[in-house]
Amino acid sequence: MKLLDGKLLSEQLYTQWAEICKQEMGRNLRPPNLTAIMVDPSPASRLYVRNKERACAKVGVLSQILEFEATTTTDQLLQKIHELANEGQTDGLIVQLPVPDSIDSQAILAAIPPEMDVDGFSPLNQGRMLLGLSAHQPATPSGIMMLLKHYEIETRGKHAIVVGRSEIVGTPLAILLSRRGIDATVTLCHSRTADLQSHTRRADLLFIAAGQAELIGSEHIKRGAVVIDVGIHEAKPESGRKWTGDVQYDAVLPLVSAITPVPGGVGPMTVCALLRNTLRSWAMQMGLDSERF
Ligand code: NDP
Repeated sequence: MKLLDGKLLSEQLYTQWAEICKQEMGRNLRPPNLTAIMVDPSPASRLYVRNKERACAKVGVLSQILEFEATTTTDQLLQKIHELANEGQTDGLIVQLPVPDSIDSQAILAAIPPEMDVDGFSPLNQGRMLLGLSAHQPATPSGIMMLLKHYEIETRGKHAIVVGRSEIVGTPLAILLSRRGIDATVTLCHSRTADLQSHTRRADLLFIAAGQAELIGSEHIKRGAVVIDVGIHEAKPESGRKWTGDVQYDAVLPLVSAITPVPGGVGPMTVCALLRNTLRSWAMQMGLDSERF
């Protein structure tokens, strides 16, 4: 059984990228910069942004967090985004979701210039990805693809089941898996799927991004399947674990050929993909080879 260790892989990549950044900045270039906007953040949002800040520090990326109150308007945020875009000092700009309902999140995402949209959520980047053109890919699916590649998980001709069809995880993941060169055959399931188990039991590769703690048990798994668990939830105290995913980890373990742990699987790879997008954006601004990242 292979443990698909996202923490380990991300740390390895940070070390490599830090070395490249150090070399390049020795030539008097300004450091890469990631700016995060948060509006009335929840404790979870603060934690996610802190993890991103820590990863930036490991690589030598400058990070700044701009925090706004719940009463901030869409127009005020749009103005801040325009300012940052015009200053030319920001390589990556993210708006930590969710934002309060009073804010038009689609208008905010659409206002981020595509080259700075390192979360890959803007309509332009999503559209370019759909067409197979160069684009910042959404961080979670992109991090999952990095993990599959690193651990040499065979995708060609395999049956991939994705559970969850959100715009930022399930749907783009289904698109990337079906890409020429990856060549999986993809089924996309959601809350209206009839008899979920009949689908998941046919999966060679099973990706769960349903946001439902421990939805998937051993009865959902085909023997030898590769399981990628995107969910992260606080575990019940009696379980003896702090966190759990969308998968009943201990129950499926004897059946799988590879699995991501929670935490330490998809979460660190999401941050890692975000950083890669930021570094690529910086490299392009500086006239460097972005493919080194
Ligand atoms: P959303 O809530 O936006 O989407 C959840 C999807 O799962 C929906 O498409 C929903 O279907 C589907 N779904 C819900 N319940 C079921 C069910 N019982 N059976 C089948 N499908 C179901 O979530 P996200 O995509 O944003 O995130 C999914 C999970 O991943 C969350 O737990 C989130 O916290 C986690 N996450 C983790 C990240 C990480 O870095 N580790 C990054 C991003 C997310 P329908 O469309 O019909 O409602």
